[in-house]
Amino acid sequence: MVEKAFIQLCNISKAFGKVQANKNVSLDVKKGEILALLGENGSGKSTLVNMISGIYTPDSGEIFIDGKSMKFTCPNDAIRAKIGMVHQHFKLVDVLTAKENIIIGQKDSFFIKNSASENNIKNICEMYGLNLSLDKKIYNMSVGEKQTVEIVKVLYRGANVLILDEPTAVLTPQETKVLFEILKRLKNQGASIIIITHKLNEVMEISDRVTVLRSGESIGTVVTAETSPHELTQMMVGNEVLLEIKRDEPVRSDEPLLVVDSLEIKDSDGIKKLDGMSFELFGGEILGVAGIAGSGQKELCEIIAGLEKANSGRVVFKGENILGLSPRSIIKKGISMSFVPEDRLGMGLVAGMDITENVLLKSYAKNKGLFVDRKSGKKLAKEIVERFNISTPSINHVVKKLSGGNIQKVLLGREIDLNPHLLITAYPVRGLDIGASYNIYDVLNEQKAKGVGILFIGEDLDVLRELCDRIMVVHDGKIMDIVDPKNTSKDKLGLLMLGHKPGEESADND
Ligand code: ADP
Ligand code: MG
Repeated sequence: MVEKAFIQLCNISKAFGKVQANKNVSLDVKKGEILALLGENGSGKSTLVNMISGIYTPDSGEIFIDGKSMKFTCPNDAIRAKIGMVHQHFKLVDVLTAKENIIIGQKDSFFIKNSASENNIKNICEMYGLNLSLDKKIYNMSVGEKQTVEIVKVLYRGANVLILDEPTAVLTPQETKVLFEILKRLKNQGASIIIITHKLNEVMEISDRVTVLRSGESIGTVVTAETSPHELTQMMVGNEVLLEIKRDEPVRSDEPLLVVDSLEIKDSDGIKKLDGMSFELFGGEILGVAGIAGSGQKELCEIIAGLEKANSGRVVFKGENILGLSPRSIIKKGISMSFVPEDRLGMGLVAGMDITENVLLKSYAKNKGLFVDRKSGKKLAKEIVERFNISTPSINHVVKKLSGGNIQKVLLGREIDLNPHLLITAYPVRGLDIGASYNIYDVLNEQKAKGVGILFIGEDLDVLRELCDRIMVVHDGKIMDIVDPKNTSKDKLGLLMLGHKPGEESADND
């Protein structure tokens, strides 16, 4: 039996002024299938799915749903055709509860009895194994929870097509796992799913087929089981790329730059978040930190940077105990932190300020002058924008209006300009596409060659293994081991992350 396509796009084109965002793109998705839409930033992914969800209308080409030609003129048309879209930026009302958010916008929501709709929502959650506190307000929710609300909202409206635009960009690896379980269940129930991502490992894990876009055109569709990350990358960027991160030999300093000794911190319930951490970091090396999110990485970074107080232990930088110094005095000593928290704008950057002002923020802390020299700030902002290839209309553009990748570049660019001796960087490539990620790795290697000591908190084990000179694996606030990436398998790293010390008896290490 030939399965027929449930969603079918035929030769879709769309231009915004001079920009041809999509050109003759065709694709199809069957029932019970997950199609990944892969492409670099700006390749036209969001534009394409926004036409399936009625936000944009194609200039030419046709959309078929279940064999019928559709002409959506607004999102409601698409919702009526049972198409559900989970946007990159959630469209939830913060002060309302999950339940209220799910129900509002329904044409007949006024007439539905509260209890009936609540039961309905509960049934949906049960059917797909979704965990949701219906009476919790959105502003009290984590990013993962908000996303679940969005998904339930879409299912509540009866969607059997689900489109997700970069849903994992904002999620931790754990939350991503939960999301993927949900998507698999939806797929097994017969839904057609389109997921946008630029993370190759996610494509390999979740999708049945992949359509690759480049500069608005479809480069082709391949069956996931028959392709490889290497082939996909090639399709995506158009030329042979070595999925290899350059790792120069470390130019390690003789003396350690940073000595962390028996660091301990407890939370308000007396639970140890750091449980006696001790390690050394040398100048001219990249020390990777691998661990499941929440294993103490955040606390470690914040203590070194002076943002958090330890209960006991020492942090010795160039022979001097810096524990307890203010962040400002620590910056002056040459320790720089570019930390990407769950919400990138939370720390280090001020969302409402423009690029120049954000750049000045840090140099102001370094130089003791009271006069903020906007002119030199502008020069510096310009340099950072050029060097990191930041796409922004100008250096006077408000930071919160930039894309995640560009915000990340502003953050890192500003830190590196301070000529730090020690650079702490956490998840610096989260949400960046391949080209931008490699850009960041190059910058880190450049810094390493200059003798800077780098603490790199990572999440992708492949990247950690390729980039770092040593990898420290943390679990539950403790250091499990510090290993040489060249002869440590991913499996072994995974076991250490879960708190297992692989025994000597396992002779089947690769
Ligand atoms: P992706 O989602 O793959 O990153 P997009 O679909 O957002 O790519 O963008 C494709 C191209 O279309 C980009 O060059 C982008 O700048 C442009 N574009 C997208 N939306 C608009 C818009 N509303 N107005 C003008 N240009 C746009
Ligand atoms: Mg997009």
